[in-house]
Amino acid sequence: MRFHILTLFPDMVMNSLHTSVIGRAVERELIEINAVNIRDYTQDKHGKVDDYTYGGGAGMLLQAQPVFDAHQAVTGSRKVRTVYVTPQGVPFTQKLAMELAKEEELLFLCGHYEGIDERALEEIVTDHVSIGDYVLTGGELPAMVMVDAISRLVPGVLGNEVSADTESFHNDLLEYPQYSRPEEWHGKKVPEVLLSGDRKKIAEWRLEQAKERTRRVRPDLFKKYLQKEKVLEMLFKQKRNNIHLIETLSRGTGEILYAEGESLLIYNRACDIVLLTAENMEHGEKMISLIPETCELAVTSQSFLNDLLLDKRGFQVCQECNQVCYTPREPLPVRHKDIRMLTRDEFSYVAEHYALGDPDSVKERIDAKAMYGAFVEGRIVGFAGIHEDGSMGMLYVDEKYRCQGIGAALESYIINRERESGHTPYAHIIVGNEESLRLQEKLGLYQAKQNIWWLVKKACISLQSVLNS
Ligand code: SAM
Repeated sequence: MRFHILTLFPDMVMNSLHTSVIGRAVERELIEINAVNIRDYTQDKHGKVDDYTYGGGAGMLLQAQPVFDAHQAVTGSRKVRTVYVTPQGVPFTQKLAMELAKEEELLFLCGHYEGIDERALEEIVTDHVSIGDYVLTGGELPAMVMVDAISRLVPGVLGNEVSADTESFHNDLLEYPQYSRPEEWHGKKVPEVLLSGDRKKIAEWRLEQAKERTRRVRPDLFKKYLQKEKVLEMLFKQKRNNIHLIETLSRGTGEILYAEGESLLIYNRACDIVLLTAENMEHGEKMISLIPETCELAVTSQSFLNDLLLDKRGFQVCQECNQVCYTPREPLPVRHKDIRMLTRDEFSYVAEHYALGDPDSVKERIDAKAMYGAFVEGRIVGFAGIHEDGSMGMLYVDEKYRCQGIGAALESYIINRERESGHTPYAHIIVGNEESLRLQEKLGLYQAKQNIWWLVKKACISLQSVLNS
């Protein structure tokens, strides 16, 4: 991922962002940080970039020309999402960080003095974002805050992929208290349960602590958490039909945009997908109007919602799918010895054989540690993975190695890994793909009674690429 930071103080930004975790990510070329000095682009022969504000008032303003020209020099003819860091923007949150982390390239514009001439902002800025309700002297610290929070969500930046999943805000809860050695310090003992080795009890204790802390410190967040719990309780009454909704919420990737009775609109901001289920047309109409403009993918649980999406929101393609999930408690036997997580070394093999996905998304899935391969004598012969939305899919096995149980082994392996992470493995199978359904049945996945539909907008990626065809 490439970050450009337009600033009057490039050294300040570069010095700070080249240390610790972010610095290592730069060294490993997982991210690139490019600080651009706005002053280099001024046409003023004395190097001036600011002037008085029309209409009077204290302070100087960054002029439109150098800001606009610096932006043009960086972006050229590319359309790059441009964030103006400003106290007048929408609040920067973990959810927004997740959304921005999906971009290949991001530009941050740092104001100074009284800010920037409105006309330049109108021409180049796509997002106005604030780090809080207070005023700083310049945009460098806010830009660094955002680059830091976004970078740690880029696959591979955090050594341990799990850590971002358990941290504050991930599931509308603040994190539980943590302890390290020694067991006793200043007469204070580490809570006994943490020394018990009982993973279930530890998880329960941590959840209780997180709930208590959030209720006390952040009642606003706790309200959201309680709403989500209530919705999950309702969804669990029809677990198989609702498994995609349940998993999106419980993995912390979904935001509830609408909930009334049994109707629900969930927005997965990280991959820009909306999930809809509606008990009647009236709720459906309300939900449709709340879908974010940028959203290019939708999953519906009732066919009448498809007509609304096609008519009113520019969605065009519609594919009916069976939904399957694995709920037994036991792990599955994996009947192939050499299955492992893929790395960029296998990228070209996957890109060549997974014709349905575009190369960038294949790369993203590999970096996200979500792709697994089956190897024979050290050579890759097939792969499968987990889509961005959390469903399993992308199964491919070389023709020569088909009918030897390699596909089943790959899926079993992924199912076991998903279960270990506390997820319920699920997949969407295009209606009519009997071969795939037979495999799911053989492995013990249950088919939901109700089908779901995938819809995309016109210029969006091929629908097939997001499905387990
Ligand atoms: N006159 C501006 C106002 O009242 O909205 C404040 C300008 S501030 C002194 C200078 C620059 O610092 C801004 O242009 C912005 O880039 C940055 N800045 C200050 N506070 C910020 C915040 N809370 N979040 C993001 N950026 C901020």
